[in-house]
This record gives sequence, C-alpha cells and structure tokens, in this order.
Amino acid sequence: MVFSYKHEPFTDFSLQENKDAFITGLAKVGAYLGQEYPLIIGGERISTKEKIVSVNPANHSQVIGSVSKANKQLAEKAMQIASETFKTWRKTKPEMRADILFRAAAIVRRRKHEFSAWLVKEAGKPWNEADADTAEGIDFMEYYGRQMLKLKEGVPVESRPSEFNRFSYIPLGVGVIISPWNFAFAIMAGMTTAAIVSGNTVLLKPASTTPVIAAKFMEVLEEAGLPAGVVNFIPGSGAEVGDYLVDHPSTRFISFTGSRDVGVRIFERASKVQDSQIWLKRVIAEMGGKDTIVVDKETDLELAAQSIVASAFGFSGQKCSACSRAVVVADVYDTVLNRAVELTKKLMVGDPAYQENFMGPVNDQAAFDKVMSYIEIGKQEGKLMIGGKGDAREGWFIQPTIFAHVAEHARIMQEEIFGPVVAFCKARDFAHALEIANNTEYGLTGAVISNNRSHIEKAREDFHVGNLYINRGCTGAIVGYQPFGGFNMSGTDSKAGGPDYLIQHMQGKTISEMF
Ligand code: GLU
Repeated sequence: MVFSYKHEPFTDFSLQENKDAFITGLAKVGAYLGQEYPLIIGGERISTKEKIVSVNPANHSQVIGSVSKANKQLAEKAMQIASETFKTWRKTKPEMRADILFRAAAIVRRRKHEFSAWLVKEAGKPWNEADADTAEGIDFMEYYGRQMLKLKEGVPVESRPSEFNRFSYIPLGVGVIISPWNFAFAIMAGMTTAAIVSGNTVLLKPASTTPVIAAKFMEVLEEAGLPAGVVNFIPGSGAEVGDYLVDHPSTRFISFTGSRDVGVRIFERASKVQDSQIWLKRVIAEMGGKDTIVVDKETDLELAAQSIVASAFGFSGQKCSACSRAVVVADVYDTVLNRAVELTKKLMVGDPAYQENFMGPVNDQAAFDKVMSYIEIGKQEGKLMIGGKGDAREGWFIQPTIFAHVAEHARIMQEEIFGPVVAFCKARDFAHALEIANNTEYGLTGAVISNNRSHIEKAREDFHVGNLYINRGCTGAIVGYQPFGGFNMSGTDSKAGGPDYLIQHMQGKTISEMF
C-alpha cells in the first residue's frame, strides 16, 4: 500500500541550517554552470552544432548552459522512436510506471536545494519561489503516481447475467509536451510525468529560456529507471520543431502550457487532419490569465492589500495566476490602494541568489521589452503610484509597479502583461466589482476578500474562473489540494494536479464478454 498523498512542505528559511543548505545548493550549481547538454533520443545522446544558450536573467552575461537544438530531422527521429517505444511502454504495468515517478520524486527530494538553485540561476526565481517550484514538481510525481494506481482499476459498470462488462482507460499514444519557463521545473515535470505514467511516450520540448533544468530532470528520470525512448528530450524552436510536431500525423496529443497566442496556434494547427492521420488529436492547453482580486467593503483591508501585493509581485508577476487587476469597492479603495503602495515600497528587487531580494528579474529581453511597453501604456491609462522603471543593463529588472484609477476596459485591465504590474480599478459596489472581474476573455484565477457571506456566495456562483479563492491571494495552487486550470481563453480547464488530469491523456475502453 502506498502511503497517502501529502504535499511537500516548503522550506523554512528562517532556520540557519536550511539557509546553509540552500547556499550549498547554490554553490554546487555555480560549479556546474556553462556545461553542454545533448538531446536525448531513445537514450542516445546527440550533440548538435547549433545550441540554445541559456543565460541567467539576473546577469545575462552568465551562461547557465548550452543545450543542443533539435531540427526537423531530429524531431522526426524522436517521433519514430517514441512511436516504436509506445508499443511496449503502453503494456507496462501501471504500478511500475508509478514507481518510476515515486523514485524520481525521492531523487529530487534528496537534491531539493540543488534543483531550486538551478531555478534561481536559470529562471531568476527568489529562494521561496524556487523552493515552491521544486516542491510542486515533487508533488506532481507523488500525486500522479497515486492517481494512476487508482485509475488502473477502471470504473465499475453494470453487467447482466452471463455478461461481464469492464470499463477502463488505456493510453493515447505519442504526446508532444511543450512546457513553460515560468514553472520551469514543476510544470515541465508535471506535464511530462502525467503523460508517461498513464502509458504514453513523449517528446519533451522545454521552453527555450529554461532548457537546463529540463536536462537535469532527464538525468533524474534515467536514474529512476525510465526506459530509453519513453521521454525524448528535444529542445528547439517553436516555429521549426514545435510546428513540425504539432502537425505530425503520428502525434496523438499535445500538452501545452504557455501564452494564449501560442496555445491558439497549436489548437488550430492540431485540428487539421493530415494525410495518413487516423485520429483527431487531443490538445491539453493551459494558457494565460488576467486575474482579479476583488475587495469588498466589509473586510480585512490589511489582508486585502497583502494579498494583492503578494499575488501581483511574487516571481515578478510571471505566473498565469498572478493578480494583475485589483478591483476595489469605492468605500475602501483609497485605503487599500495606499496600503498596497506602502507594502510595495518595502519590496527589494535584485539578484534572487540573495535571500533578502523579494523579486528577481523578468525572464528575458523580450519579456523586459513587453512589460516596459505596457508600463508606458499604463502611464496613459492610469496614475503611476509606484515603480514604473526598468534596468536591463546587467539583468532584466523591473520595479514592482502599481497603476491607480484605471478604467475597466483599459488595455492594462484586459491584456496579459506577465510582469510586475497591477492595475487598480474602482467599483461602485460589490456587484459592479464582480462584473468587472468577469469582463476579460480569460477565466483562470480570481480572489474575493470579503466578510459578507451573501457576497461570497454570489462570487461562488458568478465569478467565472477555474480557481476561485476566498480571503486569500490568487496564486499558489497546491497539487492535489487546489486542482489548477481555467475557463475561456485560459485553456482547456485541464486542472493540473487534480483528479481528472490523467484521464485527459487516456481513452476509455469498454470490454463486454459473454459467458
Ligand atoms: N499553478 C500556479 C499557481 O497557482 C500558476 C501556474 C502558472 O503560472 O502557469 O500560482
């Protein structure tokens, strides 16, 4: 019997021994910087001439590692191997597949601070955010392993005399995993292991700015005993390798987490049935968000301001769950806004390798340019209360930024910025606040800070988001506790870390036998 699932605890960095252990992890990773990482196709290591060079976003002259870059030919080779491996992998026992996940989780747990240190260096995550990312990766493996052990029994159906009916789930086939840089470990590992534990083989194309942490995870999977060819590691460009594999007739499903625009592109392309293709591809997509914290008048205003600041600026707002809109009812608007500004003043921005820095950099030059251009738009659309400045000389740093008095349909109230920028918008009353909260094309997370039970009930019914939080911030879903995923243009509501997630990588088969 496997013991029951509990999420991985976060590290208490107020304890000196934990601080020291984290610093040791950083030093260890520091010694590994600049190495080369090959593609892994069918267990074979392949080095290409062309490389993806991953740099430290807090210091872009520092190379984290150089990773080989797949092209169409290598993607095709990987597809053939994944298709061939599927023939045997699909018949392996679910228990064995789950054990590989449990072992991989144990390996990462033993090397936890080293993995978190990679996230500090490669993704620019502050200590606590990196620690949470690693913990979430461990959680996904522990949780999906257990989910598979439940699913293997199938679901009971009725039988009549002399008849035995069985209903169970079988894998789909070869999946293309296109993972994001913002949870460079957790989401990459979660998407990959969900697919393989349910019996599929995969082609893993990690985000181009964070391929090294994915290469480290490949080492873990091998050490955990994953047979060659089940996960094939093929970093590469979206336009070349991504499109090629999304279009490929042998691709059975695509699991994507990333921007709305790329998600829509994948969805459209995947819908086209290619010559020789004998199925309709399945797309599992987690896309953007434009997430709102609604503040009611009868409430704990300190909790409101703290929730807004933590959800807006944690990991520089680079979460699809991040709060980018604070919609506050008129009576308490000034109080909450001023307190949020005060709290923001105290946040330190700098190299996330130093524990005192609450916020590190944004992901890359493109992210920096995009966020800075939205800050310019914000200056037209609202009143800049704090922040608004960026400095890309050494790393891609942007100050936490608050705009006040923004109109409900302004661009910074509608478009995903994916950076440390939050817009405050005044609502007449709670009903108006909810109306504003629902006025985007997204529907991922949202929070309501209120002590009014009837308002909370109204939010439960009418706030149209996949993850609704009451009296807390809107980020930080925990695997197995708050299944994560959204409505509308936020994706297919696949609910990562939830009880339905694996089934989306499988298909139901009914077998009816007469006796
Ligand atoms: N699951 C994360 C959270 O709840 C967000 C994931 C994402 O940004 O993609 O904050």
